[in-house]
Amino acid sequence: GGPVTVKELAGKMGREVSDIIKKLMTLGTMATINQEVDLDTAVILAGEYDITVEELPPEEDPTEIAEIEDDPASLVLRPPVVTVMGHVDHGKTSLLDAIRQTNVTAHEAGGITQHIGAYQVLCQGKKIVFLDTPGHEAFTSMRARGAQVTDIAILVVAADDGVMPQTVEAINHAKSAKVPIIVAINKMDRPGANPDRVKQQLAEQGLVPEDWGGDTIMVPVSAHQKTGLSDLLEMILLVAEMQEVKANPNRLAYGTIIEAELDKGRGPVATVLVQKGTLRIGDSIIAGTTYGKVRAMINDRGDKVKKAEPSTPVEVLGLNDVPMAGDVLAAVDEKIARSVAEKRVAKKRSEEMKESQKVSLDDLFKQI
Ligand code: GDP
Ligand code: MG
Repeated sequence: GGPVTVKELAGKMGREVSDIIKKLMTLGTMATINQEVDLDTAVILAGEYDITVEELPPEEDPTEIAEIEDDPASLVLRPPVVTVMGHVDHGKTSLLDAIRQTNVTAHEAGGITQHIGAYQVLCQGKKIVFLDTPGHEAFTSMRARGAQVTDIAILVVAADDGVMPQTVEAINHAKSAKVPIIVAINKMDRPGANPDRVKQQLAEQGLVPEDWGGDTIMVPVSAHQKTGLSDLLEMILLVAEMQEVKANPNRLAYGTIIEAELDKGRGPVATVLVQKGTLRIGDSIIAGTTYGKVRAMINDRGDKVKKAEPSTPVEVLGLNDVPMAGDVLAAVDEKIARSVAEKRVAKKRSEEMKESQKVSLDDLFKQI
């Protein structure tokens, strides 16, 4: 990474050195053959020659490296990551709230839990991570960006309303992502609750309940009365064990940005779900086109932490800019963090520049 000399650039672009030097002159830069050219200038030059700045080859891209599968022997069980999906008003938010409230530790009881886009609960001493963004949005938009963060989908269906269009959509999303579905038949307290009708409708969608000889776990719950919640959590753990939800905690961290914002006082704040490895204070990181060093980490209970293991959601401070939800975060060698991020920025800029060049040409013709 880093800057290249005029000579190297000429080689890379397949041009004479003198040609490059002349071009640089027209751009207002006097350069010699061994002079270093910064990335921005190189990108502008490339644009002049109509050369696209290519993406890093996989062997140089830390994100791609991080995606390489770990040795099976290094994998250990990690908490499952769960998303709640379902039709509007069937009780996704209520269920998430009910689970959070009934499974808080004494430490935070009565206190305010930090909203960081995901939270962990304990069930029989085991952790489960819930993504706090109910509905399809988070799940599908992140998946559209290539990020797969969910291990299990909880499909919420109101017992008094049954399968609705967004229920079917949610089933299709989970199926195409190959994420196992557990059904929570909610609002069991309602007078019109009819779980058998819900099961019938779900069976028609290919989700046959276990008690009917199928393999879909369906748990009757009431978010309002907080009933059935521990059954639901137990089933989540059961499915997670069957799926062998595992990761290698002993490697550089790899995770996904769940949400990110610019905080007035703290600068860019990104909620990261660590998926592999362990993220530590002081680690050099890249996320999309942003980079930095982990300055502080805050967990879902608002506590400062020094490290975050697989399936831990944490707020990360220390990035130079706000990454996008769905961006992969990777801990990298300090030397390359900046150059990789800068290459990504340069690539994005060159693409934008090409777009704007097109536009300005069009404008020119319009004026003529
Ligand atoms: P979402 O759109 O799926 O997030 O649904 P909400 O959680 O916002 O709930 C929609 C409505 O259903 C709200 O008025 C809730 O109070 C109500 N609701 C949610 N769960 C239950 C439940 O278990 N029992 C009853 N009776 N009402 C519920
Ligand atoms: Mg909601």
